[in-house]
Amino acid sequence: MNNAFKKLLELGQSIQTVESIERVLFWDQETMMPKNGITIKTMQKSAIASIIHQKKTSQELEKTLKSLIDFKTNTFVTHDLDEDQKRCTQLMRDDFLKAKKLPDDFIQKLAVLSSEATHVWIEARKENDFKRFLPYLEQIIDLMKQKSDLIGFEDHPYDAHIDDYEPGMTTRKLTALFTPLKKDLIQLTKDYQTIPIEDSCLYGEFDESLQMQLCKALLIDFGLNPDNHRLDESAHPFCMPVHRLDLRLTTHLNPSCFYQCISSSIHECGHALYEQGHHPDFFGLPIGQYASMGIHESQSKFYETMIGQSHAFWKGFYPKILQAFPDQMQKVSLDSFYRAINKVSPSLIRIYADEVTYSLHIILRFEIEKAFMDGSLKARELPEYWKTKMQEYLGIIPHNDSEGCLQDIHWASALFGYFPTYALGNLYAAELFNAIQKSFPDLDKRLENGDYHFLKDWLGKHVHEHGRRYTPERLIERATGQKVTASTFIAYLKKKYEALKTL
Ligand code: ZN
Repeated sequence: MNNAFKKLLELGQSIQTVESIERVLFWDQETMMPKNGITIKTMQKSAIASIIHQKKTSQELEKTLKSLIDFKTNTFVTHDLDEDQKRCTQLMRDDFLKAKKLPDDFIQKLAVLSSEATHVWIEARKENDFKRFLPYLEQIIDLMKQKSDLIGFEDHPYDAHIDDYEPGMTTRKLTALFTPLKKDLIQLTKDYQTIPIEDSCLYGEFDESLQMQLCKALLIDFGLNPDNHRLDESAHPFCMPVHRLDLRLTTHLNPSCFYQCISSSIHECGHALYEQGHHPDFFGLPIGQYASMGIHESQSKFYETMIGQSHAFWKGFYPKILQAFPDQMQKVSLDSFYRAINKVSPSLIRIYADEVTYSLHIILRFEIEKAFMDGSLKARELPEYWKTKMQEYLGIIPHNDSEGCLQDIHWASALFGYFPTYALGNLYAAELFNAIQKSFPDLDKRLENGDYHFLKDWLGKHVHEHGRRYTPERLIERATGQKVTASTFIAYLKKKYEALKTL
Protein backbone atom coordinates (compact mmCIF):
# COMPACT_ATOMS: atom_id res chain seq x y z
CA MET A 1 0.00 0.00 0.00
CA ASN A 2 1.15 3.54 -0.81
CA ASN A 3 2.77 5.04 2.33
CA ALA A 4 0.79 8.26 2.24
CA PHE A 5 -2.44 6.29 1.83
CA LYS A 6 -1.42 4.12 4.79
CA LYS A 7 -1.06 7.32 6.83
CA LEU A 8 -4.47 8.52 5.59
CA LEU A 9 -6.00 5.24 6.71
CA GLU A 10 -4.46 5.65 10.20
CA LEU A 11 -5.82 9.20 10.49
CA GLY A 12 -9.26 8.09 9.28
CA GLN A 13 -9.34 5.26 11.80
CA SER A 14 -8.34 7.61 14.58
CA ILE A 15 -11.22 10.00 13.69
CA GLN A 16 -13.73 7.16 13.48
CA THR A 17 -12.55 5.71 16.78
CA VAL A 18 -13.13 9.00 18.61
CA GLU A 19 -16.51 9.29 16.88
CA SER A 20 -17.38 5.85 18.22
CA ILE A 21 -16.70 7.14 21.75
CA GLU A 22 -19.10 10.01 21.11
CA ARG A 23 -21.74 7.44 20.11
CA VAL A 24 -21.31 5.43 23.32
CA LEU A 25 -21.86 8.66 25.26
CA PHE A 26 -25.09 9.32 23.37
CA TRP A 27 -26.32 5.77 23.91
CA ASP A 28 -25.50 5.96 27.62
CA GLN A 29 -27.39 9.25 27.96
CA GLU A 30 -30.53 7.82 26.37
CA THR A 31 -30.57 4.45 28.15
CA MET A 32 -28.52 4.03 31.32
CA MET A 33 -27.38 7.41 32.65
CA PRO A 34 -28.83 8.58 36.00
CA LYS A 35 -30.63 11.94 35.69
CA ASN A 36 -27.88 14.02 37.32
CA GLY A 37 -25.26 12.55 35.01
CA ILE A 38 -26.31 15.20 32.47
CA THR A 39 -23.86 17.76 33.96
CA ILE A 40 -20.73 15.74 33.27
CA LYS A 41 -22.28 14.30 30.10
CA THR A 42 -22.60 17.77 28.57
CA MET A 43 -18.92 18.44 29.34
CA GLN A 44 -17.90 15.03 27.95
CA LYS A 45 -19.82 15.62 24.73
CA SER A 46 -18.38 19.07 24.15
CA ALA A 47 -14.83 17.81 24.87
CA ILE A 48 -15.21 14.94 22.39
CA ALA A 49 -16.82 17.18 19.75
CA SER A 50 -13.88 19.57 19.86
CA ILE A 51 -11.35 16.71 19.56
CA ILE A 52 -13.24 15.39 16.51
CA HIS A 53 -13.33 18.82 14.86
CA GLN A 54 -9.59 19.28 15.49
CA LYS A 55 -8.80 15.88 13.99
CA LYS A 56 -11.00 16.49 10.96
CA THR A 57 -9.32 19.82 10.20
CA SER A 58 -5.75 19.01 11.31
CA GLN A 59 -2.65 20.10 9.41
CA GLU A 60 -1.45 16.51 9.49
CA LEU A 61 -4.58 15.39 7.60
CA GLU A 62 -4.20 18.24 5.12
CA LYS A 63 -0.53 17.41 4.50
CA THR A 64 -1.28 13.71 4.02
CA LEU A 65 -4.15 14.41 1.63
CA LYS A 66 -2.03 16.86 -0.38
CA SER A 67 0.66 14.21 -0.86
CA LEU A 68 -2.03 12.13 -2.63
CA ILE A 69 -4.21 14.65 -4.44
CA ASP A 70 -3.88 18.20 -5.73
CA PHE A 71 -6.52 20.26 -3.91
CA LYS A 72 -6.88 22.84 -6.67
CA THR A 73 -7.15 20.60 -9.70
CA ASN A 74 -8.60 17.54 -7.88
CA THR A 75 -6.10 15.31 -9.72
CA PHE A 76 -3.95 12.63 -8.14
CA VAL A 77 -0.27 13.35 -7.61
CA THR A 78 0.54 9.68 -7.05
CA HIS A 79 -0.05 6.87 -9.52
CA ASP A 80 -0.23 3.75 -7.40
CA LEU A 81 -3.73 4.05 -5.92
CA ASP A 82 -6.46 1.61 -6.91
CA GLU A 83 -10.00 2.79 -7.71
CA ASP A 84 -11.30 2.38 -4.13
CA GLN A 85 -8.31 4.21 -2.69
CA LYS A 86 -8.83 7.03 -5.19
CA ARG A 87 -12.50 7.31 -4.26
CA CYS A 88 -11.67 7.37 -0.53
CA THR A 89 -8.98 10.02 -1.01
CA GLN A 90 -11.31 12.20 -3.05
CA LEU A 91 -14.14 11.97 -0.51
CA MET A 92 -11.80 12.69 2.40
CA ARG A 93 -10.49 15.73 0.54
CA ASP A 94 -14.08 16.93 -0.02
CA ASP A 95 -14.96 16.34 3.66
CA PHE A 96 -11.82 18.15 4.77
CA LEU A 97 -12.44 21.20 2.57
CA LYS A 98 -16.07 21.36 3.70
CA ALA A 99 -15.13 21.16 7.39
CA LYS A 100 -12.56 23.94 6.85
CA LYS A 101 -15.19 26.22 5.34
CA LEU A 102 -16.91 26.57 8.71
CA PRO A 103 -14.76 28.70 11.04
CA ASP A 104 -14.43 27.66 14.70
CA ASP A 105 -16.38 30.67 15.97
CA PHE A 106 -19.30 29.78 13.66
CA ILE A 107 -19.34 26.19 14.97
CA GLN A 108 -19.25 27.46 18.56
CA LYS A 109 -22.03 29.97 17.94
CA LEU A 110 -24.20 27.31 16.32
CA ALA A 111 -23.57 24.83 19.16
CA VAL A 112 -24.53 27.38 21.83
CA LEU A 113 -27.59 28.62 19.94
CA SER A 114 -28.95 25.15 19.10
CA SER A 115 -28.45 23.99 22.68
CA GLU A 116 -30.39 27.02 24.03
CA ALA A 117 -33.00 26.74 21.28
CA THR A 118 -33.61 23.06 22.05
CA HIS A 119 -34.10 23.90 25.71
CA VAL A 120 -36.59 26.67 24.86
CA TRP A 121 -38.32 24.49 22.25
CA ILE A 122 -39.03 21.78 24.86
CA GLU A 123 -40.77 24.37 27.07
CA ALA A 124 -42.51 26.09 24.14
CA ARG A 125 -43.92 22.80 22.89
CA LYS A 126 -45.11 21.87 26.37
CA GLU A 127 -46.80 25.26 26.85
CA ASN A 128 -48.00 25.57 23.23
CA ASP A 129 -46.15 28.89 23.02
CA PHE A 130 -44.76 29.50 19.53
CA LYS A 131 -43.93 33.14 20.34
CA ARG A 132 -41.41 31.96 22.91
CA PHE A 133 -39.58 29.84 20.34
CA LEU A 134 -39.85 32.42 17.52
CA PRO A 135 -36.72 34.56 18.30
CA TYR A 136 -34.61 31.38 18.44
CA LEU A 137 -36.04 30.06 15.18
CA GLU A 138 -35.26 33.43 13.55
CA GLN A 139 -31.66 33.30 14.75
CA ILE A 140 -31.27 29.69 13.61
CA ILE A 141 -32.59 30.53 10.13
CA ASP A 142 -30.10 33.43 10.00
CA LEU A 143 -27.23 31.13 10.93
CA MET A 144 -28.40 28.53 8.40
CA LYS A 145 -28.32 31.21 5.68
CA GLN A 146 -24.81 32.15 6.79
CA LYS A 147 -23.86 28.49 6.56
CA SER A 148 -25.15 28.36 2.96
CA ASP A 149 -22.89 31.30 2.12
CA LEU A 150 -19.87 29.81 3.90
CA ILE A 151 -20.28 26.40 2.23
CA GLY A 152 -21.33 27.85 -1.11
CA PHE A 153 -24.01 26.71 -3.56
CA GLU A 154 -24.68 26.88 -7.26
CA ASP A 155 -28.42 27.10 -7.51
CA HIS A 156 -30.34 27.37 -4.22
CA PRO A 157 -29.09 28.25 -0.70
CA TYR A 158 -30.88 25.13 0.64
CA ASP A 159 -28.57 22.91 -1.48
CA ALA A 160 -25.69 23.43 0.98
CA HIS A 161 -27.80 21.85 3.75
CA ILE A 162 -29.28 18.98 1.74
CA ASP A 163 -25.79 17.94 0.69
CA ASP A 164 -24.82 17.44 4.36
CA TYR A 165 -27.22 14.50 4.62
CA GLU A 166 -27.69 13.41 1.01
CA PRO A 167 -24.52 13.99 -1.04
CA GLY A 168 -25.27 14.98 -4.63
CA MET A 169 -28.93 15.75 -3.97
CA THR A 170 -30.20 19.28 -4.65
CA THR A 171 -33.31 21.39 -4.09
CA ARG A 172 -34.08 21.17 -7.80
CA LYS A 173 -33.83 17.35 -7.91
CA LEU A 174 -35.91 16.97 -4.75
CA THR A 175 -38.58 19.29 -6.12
CA ALA A 176 -38.72 17.15 -9.28
CA LEU A 177 -39.17 13.98 -7.19
CA PHE A 178 -41.55 15.39 -4.59
CA THR A 179 -43.95 17.29 -6.89
CA PRO A 180 -45.50 14.18 -8.53
CA LEU A 181 -45.16 12.27 -5.24
CA LYS A 182 -47.23 14.89 -3.42
CA LYS A 183 -49.96 14.94 -6.04
CA ASP A 184 -50.31 11.14 -6.01
CA LEU A 185 -50.14 10.79 -2.23
CA ILE A 186 -52.86 13.39 -1.69
CA GLN A 187 -55.09 11.35 -3.99
CA LEU A 188 -54.17 7.98 -2.42
CA THR A 189 -54.83 9.39 1.06
CA LYS A 190 -58.33 10.41 -0.07
CA ASP A 191 -58.93 7.01 -1.65
CA TYR A 192 -57.62 4.78 1.13
CA GLN A 193 -58.70 6.59 4.29
CA THR A 194 -62.24 5.51 3.53
CA ILE A 195 -61.42 1.78 3.64
CA PRO A 196 -63.33 0.65 6.72
CA ILE A 197 -60.77 -0.76 9.16
CA GLU A 198 -61.25 -1.59 12.82
CA ASP A 199 -57.95 -1.26 14.65
CA SER A 200 -59.08 -1.69 18.27
CA CYS A 201 -57.69 -5.25 18.06
CA LEU A 202 -54.19 -3.79 18.39
CA TYR A 203 -54.88 -2.56 21.90
CA GLY A 204 -55.05 -4.41 25.21
CA GLU A 205 -52.69 -5.45 27.98
CA PHE A 206 -49.43 -7.01 26.84
CA ASP A 207 -46.67 -8.17 29.16
CA GLU A 208 -43.60 -6.00 28.51
CA SER A 209 -41.00 -8.70 29.08
CA LEU A 210 -42.76 -10.94 26.56
CA GLN A 211 -42.75 -8.07 24.05
CA MET A 212 -39.02 -7.64 24.59
CA GLN A 213 -38.39 -11.37 24.13
CA LEU A 214 -40.27 -11.36 20.80
CA CYS A 215 -38.28 -8.37 19.57
CA LYS A 216 -34.92 -9.78 20.59
CA ALA A 217 -35.59 -13.06 18.80
CA LEU A 218 -36.79 -11.24 15.69
CA LEU A 219 -33.58 -9.16 15.40
CA ILE A 220 -31.56 -12.37 15.32
CA ASP A 221 -33.96 -13.99 12.84
CA PHE A 222 -33.47 -11.01 10.52
CA GLY A 223 -29.71 -11.56 10.63
CA LEU A 224 -28.16 -9.45 13.37
CA ASN A 225 -25.32 -11.38 14.97
CA PRO A 226 -26.20 -11.88 18.69
CA ASP A 227 -22.64 -10.90 19.65
CA ASN A 228 -22.76 -7.68 17.60
CA HIS A 229 -25.70 -5.91 19.17
CA ARG A 230 -27.94 -5.28 22.14
CA LEU A 231 -31.53 -4.09 22.48
CA ASP A 232 -32.60 -1.80 25.34
CA GLU A 233 -35.51 0.46 26.11
CA SER A 234 -35.67 4.22 25.54
CA ALA A 235 -38.34 6.91 25.21
CA HIS A 236 -37.60 7.31 21.49
CA PRO A 237 -36.32 4.22 19.66
CA PHE A 238 -32.98 4.58 17.88
CA CYS A 239 -30.02 2.60 16.53
CA MET A 240 -26.62 3.89 17.58
CA PRO A 241 -23.88 2.15 15.61
CA VAL A 242 -20.77 2.40 17.76
CA HIS A 243 -19.03 0.12 15.25
CA ARG A 244 -20.25 -2.55 12.84
CA LEU A 245 -19.53 -5.10 15.58
CA ASP A 246 -21.11 -3.03 18.37
CA LEU A 247 -24.65 -1.93 17.50
CA ARG A 248 -26.86 -0.38 20.20
CA LEU A 249 -30.57 -0.55 19.44
CA THR A 250 -33.49 0.61 21.52
CA THR A 251 -37.21 0.11 21.35
CA HIS A 252 -40.17 1.66 23.13
CA LEU A 253 -42.36 -0.71 25.14
CA ASN A 254 -46.02 0.20 25.31
CA PRO A 255 -47.94 -2.09 27.70
CA SER A 256 -51.18 -1.47 25.80
CA CYS A 257 -49.90 -2.07 22.24
CA PHE A 258 -47.26 -4.71 21.45
CA TYR A 259 -47.22 -3.82 17.76
CA GLN A 260 -45.42 -0.51 18.37
CA CYS A 261 -42.44 -2.25 19.91
CA ILE A 262 -42.26 -4.89 17.15
CA SER A 263 -42.53 -2.27 14.43
CA SER A 264 -39.91 0.09 15.91
CA SER A 265 -37.54 -2.83 16.57
CA ILE A 266 -37.81 -3.92 12.93
CA HIS A 267 -37.14 -0.33 11.81
CA GLU A 268 -34.02 -0.01 13.95
CA CYS A 269 -32.93 -3.50 12.87
CA GLY A 270 -32.85 -2.26 9.25
CA HIS A 271 -30.46 0.52 10.30
CA ALA A 272 -28.32 -1.95 12.30
CA LEU A 273 -28.09 -4.50 9.47
CA TYR A 274 -26.77 -1.75 7.20
CA GLU A 275 -24.00 -0.89 9.66
CA GLN A 276 -23.23 -4.54 10.36
CA GLY A 277 -22.84 -5.05 6.61
CA HIS A 278 -20.13 -2.40 6.11
CA HIS A 279 -16.98 -3.78 4.52
CA PRO A 280 -14.52 -4.76 7.30
CA ASP A 281 -11.46 -3.71 5.26
CA PHE A 282 -12.59 -0.08 5.10
CA PHE A 283 -12.93 0.93 8.76
CA GLY A 284 -11.89 4.59 8.97
CA LEU A 285 -12.41 5.20 5.25
CA PRO A 286 -15.51 6.53 3.42
CA ILE A 287 -16.22 3.14 1.80
CA GLY A 288 -16.65 1.78 5.34
CA GLN A 289 -19.30 4.42 6.12
CA TYR A 290 -23.00 4.82 5.24
CA ALA A 291 -23.74 6.43 1.87
CA SER A 292 -26.27 8.99 3.11
CA MET A 293 -29.10 9.46 5.58
CA GLY A 294 -31.60 8.67 2.81
CA ILE A 295 -29.92 5.34 2.11
CA HIS A 296 -29.81 4.61 5.85
CA GLU A 297 -33.52 5.34 6.13
CA SER A 298 -34.25 3.19 3.06
CA GLN A 299 -32.87 0.19 4.95
CA SER A 300 -35.05 0.79 8.01
CA LYS A 301 -38.16 1.61 5.96
CA PHE A 302 -37.63 -1.44 3.76
CA TYR A 303 -37.71 -3.73 6.80
CA GLU A 304 -40.32 -1.80 8.77
CA THR A 305 -42.93 -1.31 6.04
CA MET A 306 -42.25 -3.42 2.96
CA ILE A 307 -41.41 -6.51 5.00
CA GLY A 308 -42.76 -5.80 8.51
CA GLN A 309 -46.16 -4.59 7.32
CA SER A 310 -46.59 -7.23 4.61
CA HIS A 311 -49.19 -9.97 4.68
CA ALA A 312 -46.60 -12.66 3.92
CA PHE A 313 -44.39 -11.72 6.87
CA TRP A 314 -47.31 -11.74 9.29
CA LYS A 315 -48.63 -15.02 7.93
CA GLY A 316 -45.34 -16.53 9.13
CA PHE A 317 -44.92 -14.50 12.32
CA TYR A 318 -48.48 -14.26 13.64
CA PRO A 319 -48.47 -17.74 15.27
CA LYS A 320 -45.69 -16.46 17.57
CA ILE A 321 -47.95 -13.57 18.62
CA LEU A 322 -50.81 -15.97 19.30
CA GLN A 323 -48.48 -18.10 21.38
CA ALA A 324 -47.20 -15.10 23.38
CA PHE A 325 -50.57 -13.39 23.88
CA PRO A 326 -53.26 -16.08 23.45
CA ASP A 327 -55.90 -14.41 25.66
CA GLN A 328 -55.69 -11.05 23.93
CA MET A 329 -55.21 -12.15 20.31
CA GLN A 330 -56.85 -15.55 19.73
CA LYS A 331 -60.09 -13.97 18.52
CA VAL A 332 -58.25 -11.68 16.10
CA SER A 333 -57.76 -13.19 12.65
CA LEU A 334 -54.54 -12.71 10.70
CA ASP A 335 -56.40 -10.66 8.07
CA SER A 336 -58.01 -8.37 10.67
CA PHE A 337 -54.62 -7.80 12.28
CA TYR A 338 -52.97 -7.12 8.91
CA ARG A 339 -55.65 -4.60 7.97
CA ALA A 340 -55.36 -2.88 11.36
CA ILE A 341 -51.60 -2.31 11.12
CA ASN A 342 -52.05 -0.85 7.64
CA LYS A 343 -54.89 1.55 8.36
CA VAL A 344 -54.58 4.84 6.45
CA SER A 345 -55.65 7.75 8.57
CA PRO A 346 -54.34 11.33 8.22
CA SER A 347 -52.89 12.42 11.55
CA LEU A 348 -51.30 15.55 12.94
CA ILE A 349 -48.11 13.98 14.27
CA ARG A 350 -45.45 12.89 11.78
CA ILE A 351 -43.93 10.07 13.82
CA TYR A 352 -47.32 8.31 14.13
CA ALA A 353 -48.19 8.67 10.44
CA ASP A 354 -49.02 5.64 8.28
CA GLU A 355 -47.19 4.48 5.18
CA VAL A 356 -49.34 6.50 2.74
CA THR A 357 -49.48 9.85 4.55
CA TYR A 358 -45.95 9.87 6.07
CA SER A 359 -44.17 11.40 3.09
CA LEU A 360 -46.71 14.26 2.91
CA HIS A 361 -45.57 15.32 6.39
CA ILE A 362 -42.02 15.35 5.04
CA ILE A 363 -42.85 17.26 1.86
CA LEU A 364 -44.48 19.96 3.99
CA ARG A 365 -41.26 20.34 6.02
CA PHE A 366 -39.13 20.30 2.84
CA GLU A 367 -41.19 23.14 1.35
CA ILE A 368 -40.91 25.14 4.58
CA GLU A 369 -37.12 24.76 4.83
CA LYS A 370 -36.74 25.67 1.17
CA ALA A 371 -38.87 28.79 1.67
CA PHE A 372 -36.99 29.75 4.86
CA MET A 373 -33.72 29.51 2.98
CA ASP A 374 -34.73 31.63 -0.01
CA GLY A 375 -36.56 34.11 2.21
CA SER A 376 -40.03 33.55 0.76
CA LEU A 377 -41.33 32.46 4.18
CA LYS A 378 -40.64 34.29 7.46
CA ALA A 379 -40.38 32.44 10.76
CA ARG A 380 -43.33 34.38 12.22
CA GLU A 381 -45.55 33.20 9.36
CA LEU A 382 -44.86 29.53 10.12
CA PRO A 383 -47.94 28.60 12.25
CA GLU A 384 -50.44 29.88 9.67
CA TYR A 385 -48.51 28.42 6.74
CA TRP A 386 -48.42 25.05 8.52
CA LYS A 387 -52.18 24.99 9.09
CA THR A 388 -52.97 25.95 5.50
CA LYS A 389 -50.70 23.24 4.08
CA MET A 390 -51.93 20.53 6.49
CA GLN A 391 -55.48 21.26 5.31
CA GLU A 392 -54.37 21.14 1.68
CA TYR A 393 -52.28 17.93 1.93
CA LEU A 394 -53.96 15.88 4.66
CA GLY A 395 -57.35 17.51 5.12
CA ILE A 396 -56.80 18.17 8.83
CA ILE A 397 -55.76 21.23 10.85
CA PRO A 398 -53.90 21.16 14.18
CA HIS A 399 -55.73 22.74 17.13
CA ASN A 400 -52.49 24.20 18.42
CA ASP A 401 -48.83 24.68 17.49
CA SER A 402 -47.64 21.86 19.78
CA GLU A 403 -49.43 19.46 17.45
CA GLY A 404 -48.34 21.55 14.48
CA CYS A 405 -45.14 23.40 13.72
CA LEU A 406 -43.62 22.82 17.18
CA GLN A 407 -43.77 19.01 17.08
CA ASP A 408 -40.26 18.20 15.78
CA ILE A 409 -36.90 18.86 17.39
CA HIS A 410 -35.04 19.27 14.06
CA TRP A 411 -35.27 23.04 13.63
CA ALA A 412 -34.35 23.75 17.25
CA SER A 413 -31.30 21.52 16.71
CA ALA A 414 -30.43 23.33 13.45
CA LEU A 415 -30.81 20.12 11.43
CA PHE A 416 -31.84 21.82 8.18
CA GLY A 417 -31.79 19.50 5.16
CA TYR A 418 -32.37 16.36 7.22
CA PHE A 419 -36.15 15.98 6.75
CA PRO A 420 -36.12 15.20 2.99
CA THR A 421 -34.04 12.07 3.64
CA TYR A 422 -37.03 10.43 5.38
CA ALA A 423 -39.13 10.62 2.21
CA LEU A 424 -36.16 9.71 0.02
CA GLY A 425 -35.77 6.62 2.23
CA ASN A 426 -39.28 5.52 1.21
CA LEU A 427 -38.54 6.07 -2.48
CA TYR A 428 -35.20 4.21 -2.36
CA ALA A 429 -36.77 1.39 -0.33
CA ALA A 430 -39.50 0.93 -2.94
CA GLU A 431 -36.88 0.69 -5.71
CA LEU A 432 -34.93 -1.92 -3.74
CA PHE A 433 -38.09 -3.87 -2.89
CA ASN A 434 -39.07 -3.89 -6.55
CA ALA A 435 -35.66 -5.30 -7.52
CA ILE A 436 -35.80 -7.93 -4.75
CA GLN A 437 -39.26 -9.02 -5.90
CA LYS A 438 -37.85 -9.58 -9.38
CA SER A 439 -34.83 -11.50 -8.07
CA PHE A 440 -36.93 -13.68 -5.75
CA PRO A 441 -40.25 -14.64 -7.33
CA ASP A 442 -40.85 -16.83 -4.25
CA LEU A 443 -40.41 -13.84 -1.90
CA ASP A 444 -43.79 -14.29 -0.17
CA LYS A 445 -43.27 -18.02 0.38
CA ARG A 446 -39.88 -17.32 1.96
CA LEU A 447 -41.32 -14.69 4.30
CA GLU A 448 -44.17 -17.00 5.27
CA ASN A 449 -41.57 -19.62 6.20
CA GLY A 450 -39.62 -17.16 8.37
CA ASP A 451 -36.71 -17.13 5.93
CA TYR A 452 -35.26 -13.59 6.06
CA HIS A 453 -31.51 -13.93 5.65
CA PHE A 454 -31.60 -13.72 1.85
CA LEU A 455 -32.81 -10.10 2.24
CA LYS A 456 -29.78 -9.16 4.33
CA ASP A 457 -27.49 -10.99 1.87
CA TRP A 458 -28.95 -9.23 -1.18
CA LEU A 459 -28.88 -5.80 0.46
CA GLY A 460 -25.39 -6.55 1.77
CA LYS A 461 -24.08 -7.24 -1.71
CA HIS A 462 -25.87 -4.37 -3.45
CA VAL A 463 -25.94 -1.66 -0.76
CA HIS A 464 -24.25 -2.34 2.60
CA GLU A 465 -20.74 -3.29 1.58
CA HIS A 466 -20.32 -0.35 -0.81
CA GLY A 467 -20.57 2.36 1.83
CA ARG A 468 -19.80 5.66 0.05
CA ARG A 469 -18.22 4.02 -3.01
CA TYR A 470 -21.01 5.54 -5.15
CA THR A 471 -23.32 8.51 -4.74
CA PRO A 472 -26.73 7.53 -3.27
CA GLU A 473 -28.46 7.93 -6.64
CA ARG A 474 -25.84 5.82 -8.42
CA LEU A 475 -25.91 3.19 -5.68
CA ILE A 476 -29.65 2.66 -6.15
CA GLU A 477 -29.34 2.70 -9.92
CA ARG A 478 -26.61 0.03 -9.80
CA ALA A 479 -28.59 -2.11 -7.38
CA THR A 480 -31.92 -1.93 -9.21
CA GLY A 481 -31.06 -1.13 -12.83
CA GLN A 482 -33.17 2.00 -12.83
CA LYS A 483 -33.18 5.60 -11.67
CA VAL A 484 -35.11 6.62 -8.55
CA THR A 485 -38.61 7.89 -9.29
CA ALA A 486 -41.71 8.58 -7.24
CA SER A 487 -43.74 6.24 -9.43
CA THR A 488 -42.20 2.98 -8.12
CA PHE A 489 -43.24 3.87 -4.56
CA ILE A 490 -46.72 4.93 -5.71
CA ALA A 491 -47.15 1.68 -7.70
CA TYR A 492 -46.09 -0.32 -4.62
CA LEU A 493 -48.69 1.46 -2.45
CA LYS A 494 -51.46 1.02 -5.03
CA LYS A 495 -50.79 -2.70 -5.42
CA LYS A 496 -50.75 -3.23 -1.66
CA TYR A 497 -53.87 -1.21 -0.82
CA GLU A 498 -55.96 -2.41 -3.73
CA ALA A 499 -55.32 -5.99 -2.51
CA LEU A 500 -56.01 -4.99 1.10
CA LYS A 501 -59.40 -3.55 0.11
CA THR A 502 -60.64 -6.96 -1.00
CA LEU A 503 -59.31 -8.95 1.97
ZN1 ZN B 1 -34.85 5.52 10.91
